[in-house]
Amino acid sequence: MLAELPSAGVEETDAAVERARAAYPAWRAVTPGDRAMLLHRLADRLDEQLEQLAVLEARNCGKPIADARAEMGMVRDTFRYYAGAPERLLGDTIPVAGGVDMTFREPLGVVGLITPWNFPLTIAAWKMAPALAAGNTLVLKPAELTPLTALEFERIALEAGIPAGVVNVVSGPGRVCGQRLVEHPDVAKVAFTGSTEVGRGIAEAAASTIKRVTLELGGKSANLVFADADLDAAAAAAPIAVFGNAGQDCCARSRILVERPALDSFMAGLERAVTAVRVGDPLDERTEMGPLISAGQRESVGSYVGDGAPVAIRGHAPAGPGFWFPPTVLAPVSNADRAARDEIFGPVACVIPFEDEADAVRIANDTIYGLSGSIWTRDGARALRVARALETGVISINSNTSVRVSTPFGGFKQSGIGRELGPHALESYSELKNVFYAVEGV
Ligand code: NAD
Repeated sequence: MLAELPSAGVEETDAAVERARAAYPAWRAVTPGDRAMLLHRLADRLDEQLEQLAVLEARNCGKPIADARAEMGMVRDTFRYYAGAPERLLGDTIPVAGGVDMTFREPLGVVGLITPWNFPLTIAAWKMAPALAAGNTLVLKPAELTPLTALEFERIALEAGIPAGVVNVVSGPGRVCGQRLVEHPDVAKVAFTGSTEVGRGIAEAAASTIKRVTLELGGKSANLVFADADLDAAAAAAPIAVFGNAGQDCCARSRILVERPALDSFMAGLERAVTAVRVGDPLDERTEMGPLISAGQRESVGSYVGDGAPVAIRGHAPAGPGFWFPPTVLAPVSNADRAARDEIFGPVACVIPFEDEADAVRIANDTIYGLSGSIWTRDGARALRVARALETGVISINSNTSVRVSTPFGGFKQSGIGRELGPHALESYSELKNVFYAVEGV
């Protein structure tokens, strides 16, 4: 056993909201310069403790240590980036008759943050850093399966000088603590990352208090490979885009769409890359893919294999204890198949052949989701044409990456509402206030 923790209930959640509410006036009044300095100090503390946090995160959810280290680097960088924000929360002056009109960005108050188990501290940081920079206090509810780094973060925030009550972590069940945050009248906004199903319920429950809501939900993203692409590069990059974090990634490009003339050549490259993925002990530096998060997740992922589409490629997975699942490619798959429609959230990719550009766009958009995606082609005009035609929030051309601290991240359609990261996230943690000052003769 890794750790034994108390499980919070409604009473503890209410107490955390009360602490955040009590801390809000003083935090809001901290000057922009001092708030920036405190966030920089927090980034410094995170940097000093990066290795311990990375090991804790790797053990928290079974992700490879190299990935956990990169993620903790992103956590630090997210606080560093938003440390620049308090002094740049600018308003406008608007020409009107009879006076001076100006806008201000005001904090919301107490915000409730609800996060999933796949990137525990990273996704929490995407929410906490802009929330704090904009002058809010917060209550974070991490996923039940992975609360450890969030709890450790609360300690580090205090150590960095963030006043008590500004950052509060409650670890407990979603249906109890999460639900209470969504319904609590003193919580001004809920920022949620998780499944589309739970997100739908949160949007409904938030309606009763007209709470601000941002939702980062599921995905079923497409990786479009055109015949004129660098097929070796596309095949070499495809596994990490779907098997990274053992496929438990909302951005996983789990539908690989391949133009028919390139299919054989691409599949040969894909087989080489998939069978080379090193699956094993998360604390081994060479490991590229760890186990799944739970027995339930393994069972759910397994239900998509042997359920219609043929298994074309199967990678390696260790025997023995642990929720292992080998990297698996189903091919050929129809976009109507269950495996191509559901977010499997495990290391299972579907290869779907297409005939031409229009067919590729039609298949890629034929999903309820719209989170990320990739386009592989040497034709620049086509790359931009297809990028504009795809109904998805984040697209990479000749690359499989999705997330950067300084650029917006979020989904179209049922992948969510709102954007995280970049300057755009700040807007969702603040209200716009308009002030008119009557001045004779202006
Ligand atoms: P989940 O929806 O089951 O849980 C997410 C969080 O919500 C957890 O903290 C959980 O305790 C809480 N929760 C559960 N029921 C609740 C309720 N009724 N009220 C309030 N909170 C409640 O998701 P998960 O299984 O932890 O994570 C996997 C899902 O997250 C996948 O669908 C994945 O695509 C999605 N995800 C999306 C993004 C993104 O940025 N778009 C990123 C990572 C994960």
